[in-house]
Amino acid sequence: MTLNDDAWEDLSQILADPPKIRESCMNCSRPVKVCWCPGLPKSRLCPQSRLIILQHPAENKRCLRTAPMLSLSLEQNKCNIFRGKKFPSIKHEGLADILNSSNTILLYPSKNAIDISQLPKVGVDGQKPYNIVLLDGTWSQAKAIYHSSILLSTIKTCKIVQNAASDYVIRTQPTEGCLSTLESGALSLSILENEASYKDTMLRPLHYLCKYQLENGAVTHQSKEFLIKHNLYPRLIGKQLARQLRNV
Ligand SMILES: [Zn+2]
Repeated sequence: MTLNDDAWEDLSQILADPPKIRESCMNCSRPVKVCWCPGLPKSRLCPQSRLIILQHPAENKRCLRTAPMLSLSLEQNKCNIFRGKKFPSIKHEGLADILNSSNTILLYPSKNAIDISQLPKVGVDGQKPYNIVLLDGTWSQAKAIYHSSILLSTIKTCKIVQNAASDYVIRTQPTEGCLSTLESGALSLSILENEASYKDTMLRPLHYLCKYQLENGAVTHQSKEFLIKHNLYPRLIGKQLARQLRNV
């Protein structure tokens, strides 16, 4: 039997081994083996304030990201995510109004940032619920968003002052005390609404994830600052050495 060209082409389309389908969780979209959904609250939390997450487009591609933990822990209208490198743009419907609102605050360690615990708590002396804006990305992406979004510089900036190092042990943080988006969101809601249980409940998926990753061989990354100070940070090899190694 001889095969004509068409038949050969058909045959070449058949894969020797069909690709393995990695089962993903319908809720968090992570592979089932590393899903953190068991750490989510049974019913979504409904604080009075809401989180506004301005997310760098590259953040969505990282394999470890924490913004979905916030959006799945909170009622839908209590966590809005907008994506981009510059805010607001035409596609960010309703965002300009939020950013211009007097009860909007931005969590960003600018020079003038005030300790968030100094702000009036929601409900005290008629304080309205806050719109808490978070910048989601690596530290340099967050900085780039801040500097290219003029409106952000008009918002009152706050920072979270606390001693404990970040709970997020898997991803290296640039400086001690630098918090993941999840930690920033959970802590600010807890502080502004005077409700410690928010923090504990919202951080649970992170604890679940870290425990799993650590048990399965992920390295605990302390901040670069800590590692350099204790001489544990791997030094970059020089250009000359790199060239020599390439030529071996
Ligand atoms: Zn899941």
